[in-house]
Parts: sequence; structure tokens; C-alpha cells
Amino acid sequence: MTKWVYSFGKGLNEGRADMRNLLGGKGANLAEMAANGLPVPPGFTITTEVCSAFYENGRKYPDALQAQVAEALHRVEQSMGLRFGDADAPLLVSVRSGARVSMPGMMDTVLNLGLNDETVEGLARSSGDARFAWDSYRRFIQMYGSVVMGVPHHHFEDTLEQFKRANRVEDDTAITADQWRAIVVDYRHIISTHAGSEFPTNPHDQLWGAIGAVFGSWMNPRANTYRKLHEIPASWGTAVNVQSMVFGNMGDDCATGVCFTRDPSTGENIFYGEYLINAQGEDVVASIRTPQPMACARAEAGQHPMETTLPEAYAELLRVRSVLETHYKDMQDIEFTVQRNVLYILQTRNGKRTAAAALKIAIDMAREGLITQEEAIQRVPAASLDQLLHPTLDPKAERVQLTRGLPASPGAAAGAVVFTAEECEARAAKGEDVILVRIETSPEDVHGMHAARGVLTTRGGMTSHAAVVARGMGRVCVAGAGSIHVDYAAGTMTVGTHTVAQGEWITLDGGTGAVYLGRVPTIEPALSDDFNTLMGWADAVRRLGVRANAETPDDARTARRFGAEGIGLARTEHMFFGPDRIGFVRQMIIADDESVRQKAIAALLPFQRDDFASLFRIMAGLPVTVRLLDPPLHEFLPHAEAEMAEVANALGKSVDDVRARCAALAETNPMLGHRGCRLGLTSPEIYAMQVRALIQAAVMVEKELGKPIRPEIMIPLVATQAELATTRRAAEDEIARVLKEEGTNLNYYIGTMIELPRAALQADRIAEYADFFSFGTNDLTQTTFGLSRDDAGSFLPYYVDHGLLPRDPFVSIDRDGAGALVRLGVERGRQTCPDLKLGICGEHGGDPDSIAFFDEVGLDYVSCSPFRVPVARLAAAQAALATRQKAGQTA
Ligand code: ADP
Ligand code: MG
Ligand code: MG
Repeated sequence: MTKWVYSFGKGLNEGRADMRNLLGGKGANLAEMAANGLPVPPGFTITTEVCSAFYENGRKYPDALQAQVAEALHRVEQSMGLRFGDADAPLLVSVRSGARVSMPGMMDTVLNLGLNDETVEGLARSSGDARFAWDSYRRFIQMYGSVVMGVPHHHFEDTLEQFKRANRVEDDTAITADQWRAIVVDYRHIISTHAGSEFPTNPHDQLWGAIGAVFGSWMNPRANTYRKLHEIPASWGTAVNVQSMVFGNMGDDCATGVCFTRDPSTGENIFYGEYLINAQGEDVVASIRTPQPMACARAEAGQHPMETTLPEAYAELLRVRSVLETHYKDMQDIEFTVQRNVLYILQTRNGKRTAAAALKIAIDMAREGLITQEEAIQRVPAASLDQLLHPTLDPKAERVQLTRGLPASPGAAAGAVVFTAEECEARAAKGEDVILVRIETSPEDVHGMHAARGVLTTRGGMTSHAAVVARGMGRVCVAGAGSIHVDYAAGTMTVGTHTVAQGEWITLDGGTGAVYLGRVPTIEPALSDDFNTLMGWADAVRRLGVRANAETPDDARTARRFGAEGIGLARTEHMFFGPDRIGFVRQMIIADDESVRQKAIAALLPFQRDDFASLFRIMAGLPVTVRLLDPPLHEFLPHAEAEMAEVANALGKSVDDVRARCAALAETNPMLGHRGCRLGLTSPEIYAMQVRALIQAAVMVEKELGKPIRPEIMIPLVATQAELATTRRAAEDEIARVLKEEGTNLNYYIGTMIELPRAALQADRIAEYADFFSFGTNDLTQTTFGLSRDDAGSFLPYYVDHGLLPRDPFVSIDRDGAGALVRLGVERGRQTCPDLKLGICGEHGGDPDSIAFFDEVGLDYVSCSPFRVPVARLAAAQAALATRQKAGQTA
């Protein structure tokens, strides 16, 4: 018979951490902790398989489930010495959802389940604390009413607010048992009014109601959206955890809190977190009262750290902290409750962290011997390095501080203030920089947070929703800036006498929590020692080389600073757009007199030579791949009247002539038009000039630096062997002429882009004329799919949203299509020429998943934008380790 239910807690532990697929993350770790002797209140987990079966069978539970739940519940009763529904000493439970990966959008936890008018009296008697019992009961009714029965929770909050105002009570903890008793009556009334049915008083009905709500929430729209966004299959299902309650709301020797074994913002090995005395459940993150710090070292004047208020429980928590880190070998995010000075652990999981923290923790743990260097490399998500390379505020810049909140997620961001996620998304889609300002955020705001540069909230602590989500996404976040008054209706935020309206700019410093008026300039980050250490470790294991796509000296220098091992793609057309050159480029295109044309081309040569020379100098002997002119000529044509007049003047033509010539050059489909080597073949003077400039520059810099320069000449958009053969011959002739003039020799390479399906198919023949291939995966993706990247915006998002494509193929290589052509090109190219050098220079060169693929197919290097170079170095190392592990498993 299928086992649907797994027990945990002292005594019987049927689960383990590695059973996360079956028990969900929460359930698996509860069992693991309990099995390791940590104080976990007993309970049981209903497996994710029940969820799958439930949906497969038209929302019906498996037959055996009821009995298995009853048996597991009985075991909890025995272990606690209490009975569920007992009028004298009732067992209360929490019902908690828990998928394989933590997933916002799932049902919220229901606490204190099992209470009704009868059992609440029993709880009051058995605990000797009526206030506590009625506080627990009202919490339960509110949670059950909103979470399970769907009554909007503001009804309950409004009632409580009114009550507090009428009775002049400030703090929930000051409300007496009798007062809660009265509120409970109101709460029950709210439920019968708004839910259309009565609050269930039978504890078993309550339990099954809550279990049903968890499974039901798996398919709610919020959860569906989240799954889509994170590529989580619906078939995974969620588990349900039913756990005996422990109480943090029994008085001043009780508390509840959330903590991290290390600082999730910086990674420092300092115990970090927040707690509240005499509170329960999500009070800490719900920002009803201001949470207090854990450690004295982290407390400011006037705060009450747990270390001093609850020293025994704190000491125990420190012990748990080290047990958990040693056990899980990773930074943990722990939820705990203290009941009458006794500590209970309610959850642990690998803690979310900023990129900076991930880096520091990985390096520190490797040094502490907790993990190996290789594990450290795998611990840092390659894409997250991006965040470390992001700007901070320029310390010298003038600024007007508006206010300050908590430094919830680091980095600096400026943007226009908006107050709703929808507005945020709409403006960001138009390319505007926006800051999302909310009183607090909820899962409904996640898409807006994603679109925003930064997030500012006026309520909530370092573990509030906004803080946690922003850190995970790498968005700047300042949380809990309490002095700001947000008026959603008016579309304004006010601090004192200052009012900022929607659309006006502010700047956030997520490192300090400061909020500034207007736009404060930012500077590039310095790279930490930890960063360099990790890069060093990564370099030692990776097989793939990493180069950069760069054509300006600035980009080239950035690339080297980030460790690029050369330039994999210098696009020469960018050089043609310089204000001092474009005029000659236009003359070259429009002139019909051959000598005028030659003069324009000759005028461009020194510019190109300088451009190439500075790249060679910066790269100091590292390979530099220069792509000859690629785009269609008409891209350079004059558009404005004044530009036309200028060209006309230089050529002694009429403006009308120039206009007519421009019109004649226009193409219906320039992407597939007269570009790349097609242009090089029909107008050979252009390539000849570029080759000449390149070789002259190389010879010059070689002399200057006294070390060999390695120019690689790359011919774009080749489809046939003949195209490459002819273009190559022309280039070699020109090179021979230059070298003869210079009276010297030079090692150079001539290769081609493989960016058309035909080129990949013909790679064996093309390789006869190539020293290297560089896969141009942007064009290859366009031409394989037959879709234009510039026009794909109107339908590609639809494809991804509707599962017609797993991801945007321009972001992550389409392994089965464009990727298959890369694989074929590699195989056929190497058939002809076993030591053919193979690289890739599309956007995919900086995408970790694509890099793993390029490693797998055996490319020699990837080339990406300079800021992605560290990402690529790390991703290449991770790919190499993954390959090694796979080989180890099959060996
Ligand atoms: P989430 O997945 O949203 O973190 P949890 O199931 O972890 O939800 O529950 C949220 C909080 O509720 C916990 O951090 C804890 O404070 C409280 N809680 C859950 N179960 C219990 C329990 N058995 N006893 C006491 N508090 C509990
Ligand atoms: Mg929750
Ligand atoms: Mg939790």
C-alpha cells in the first residue's frame, strides 16, 4: 500500500533531507532536524504524491489517506500527551504547505488549529493563561477565515483597529482575555457574513478544511504564475505539514523569530535575525510590531537583543546554529519559537542571500573546511556575479537625503517613483527607470519588483517580503522607511514637508538604506579579494577560454580588468559611426566617381589603424578577433536633411542626387540583404582597407611592445566555401602587399563566422579555408528560426508565456535547433581540420546555461560582453565540474 503520510518529531522520523521531492523542503528538513536531535515539535507530512493523485483523480484523495492521517495524528497525540479536540487539554496543530522549492503563492500557514469555544476554555485552564488562549483563538479564526475560507483579511484587521481605537489600546499584547473574547464574537460574525458559511467548530473538519486549502492553493493563479516564472512543473505538487503547536505568545518568556546563520546581505559570519517577545508566527515578518535584533553586537541603543532578554534560549539557538551549519554545510535560514524559555525549531532551509553574501560565504566556508573549493565554485550562481559588478553611489556626488530606511538589498538605483506594480511594469516596458514604492509588498507585487530598478517600502524589516524577494532578484531595496507617508490615492509620498509625486525621481542606496531626492550619480564597484579568489579557483578548473566582445578602448580595458583572455569579437562597423568618420563613410558609399570613392576609403584608413592599434596595445599580445564590416551599407546613410547636404557638398552633387542614391540602396529585408562578405565581395576595397589598417597596426604595436601580436581576421556571414575562399584570397593578397611594404613578417589568422545554417551544414568544406570558426549565435538563431530578433518582441513573449518555447532563444541557446547546428558545425569543421579553433561570440556567450552547452559540444572559448566575463569564467568552471561529475558517475 502506498505510504502517503510520514511522521517526524522525537521518536519516529520517517523522512530525511534528501526526500525533498516527496516531502517538500519544509517537511524533509523538519524530519532531518528531528532525527538529529534538534527540538522540533512532532507532526507529520502528507506527501506531494497525494497532491498529484488529488489532481489526477478529479480532486479526490487516495482512499487510504484518511486512515493514515488519523494514525499519524494519534502518534502526535501520544508524543505530546494531549488529544486533538480534547475539551480539557487540547492538542493544537499548525497546517503548513511546503513544496520542493519554497514557493510564494501557496497557502499561508494556519496556526492554533483545533480551537473552538470549548477547547479554548480547556487551553485557558491547562495553560493557566486565559489571555494567551483567547489570543490564540482569535488568531486562528482570522487565519482560518482568510486563508481557508477566503474572507479578505482586512475585515478582521479593520475590526481590530476599531476596537483598539475605541478602547485606547496601542499594542496587541495589552488586549485582555475578555476583550479578545469579544473580538472573537465579531470575527465569527465576519466569517458568516462574508464566507457564506459558518466557521467550522469541529477540529477534524478544521483539519481537513486546511489540508484541502493547501492542495487547492497549488493550482491557484498566484502559484501558477510563480511556477511559470520559475519553470517549476505543476506535476511536482506540494506537501502538507501538520505539526503540533508551540507557543511564542504565552508571555514575556516566549518569543518567535527568524534568523540566518550568517548575514544574508554581506555574508559576514555573524548571527543575524529578528525576533519578537510574546508573539506568534508571522508577526515578525508582518511588521505589526518592530522586531528586535538577535545579538548584542547587532543591537543599537534602545533595542532589546534576544541575547539579553532570553539568554538561555539564545544560547541554545547558538548551539543549533552551529549544528545546522555543520550538518547542511550551508548558511541556514531558521524559524524558531521560544515557549516559556524553551527553544523550538520550526524550519530550516538554505538561506537566500545577496550575490555578495553568496560569494563571501562560499569562500569562507571553503577556508573553514566546511566545503571544498569545488563546492565553493558551485555555490555561487554564476549569473548573480552581475550584481557585484553593479554600481554604487558616487561618494563625491551632491545629494539631498530625503529619509532613511533599512538597507535591505545592496546596490544603488535611481528612477521615477511609481506606486503600483502595474504602473511599474508598464513604464519599465517603455524603457523607463522606475522605483516601486509600497507601504509593504506582497506576492502580487513580484512582477513589479522585477521590472523596477529598486524597491522602497515604508513598513517591514530585513526579513519582510520586500527585503527577501529583492535580495533574491538582485534588486536594490530600502525597506521600512517609516517616516514616509504613502498616499496611493493621490499618487504621492511625503516625508515631513517634502512631497514626491509619481514620476519624480529618487535614488536608493540599498547598502545604507538612504533615500535621496532626484538622481544621484553612481560609480562602478571595486572588486573584492573574495571575488578575485573565486575567479582564481574558477580559472583553475575551467576548460573553456573566455574572451570579450569589445571594440572601444574602454570596453577592452574593462574586459581585461574582468579577466578576458582576448577579444573574441571587435565589430568594426561601430568604429564607422564616429563623428569624425561617418562623413567619409557616407562619401564612400554614395560616390560614383571611383577616384573620389578611393579617397574617402583612404581617409578612413588611419582611423581604423588607430582603432586596431589601441585594441592591440590594451590586449598586449592576447588574441584579438576583428570582424570585417558586416551590416548593410544603407545603415550608414544620411537621414536628416543637413546630413544629406553635407555629403552632397563634399561630393559636389545635388541633395536630390544623394537622396535618390540613398533610396536606391534601401533594402526590403536588410537582415538577409547585402551585408557581410557579400558586401566584401562586391566592394572589395572596403575589406582591403580594413585588412591593411589591421596589419599595419599589428606590425606597429608588435614593434612597440616587442612581443608578438595575434590578429585574427574574421569574415562575416559566410554561407559557401567559395565566398570564404575568395574573400580570404583577397585578404591574403593585401596582407602580402602590406608586409612587403613594411619589410616584415607577422603571424595572423583568417577565419569565419558560422552564423547561417548553410555554413554549419557546409562546415567541413568551409573549414578548408578557415583557421578558426566563431559561431555567431545571434544571427544563427534568427536564421535557424527564420525570425527577426528586431520583430520578435510582438510574439516571442507570448510563445514563452504559453509554453510554446521553453525560453527566449536569444537569451539562452536553443539546444535542439541553433545549438544542434553549432554541434554539427563543430563536428564537420574538426573533420576537416582537427585543430580548428572554435569559439562563440553571440549574446549566449554570457549566459550560464548556454555556456554549459558550449562546454559540452567542445568549443575552445566563449566571447561575451565585458561585464559578463566574470559570469562566463565562473559558468565555464561550473560546466567543467558538472562534466567531471557526470564522467565520475558513469565511470
Ligand atoms: P512559510 O512557509 O510562509 O514560512 P511556515 O509554515 O513556515 O510558513 O509558517 C510560518 C510561521 O508560523 C513559522 O515561522 C512559525 O513562526 C509559525 N509556525 C508554524 N508552525 C508552527 C508550530 N507548529 N508552532 C508554532 N509556530 C508555528
Ligand atoms: Mg507564508
Ligand atoms: Mg517558514
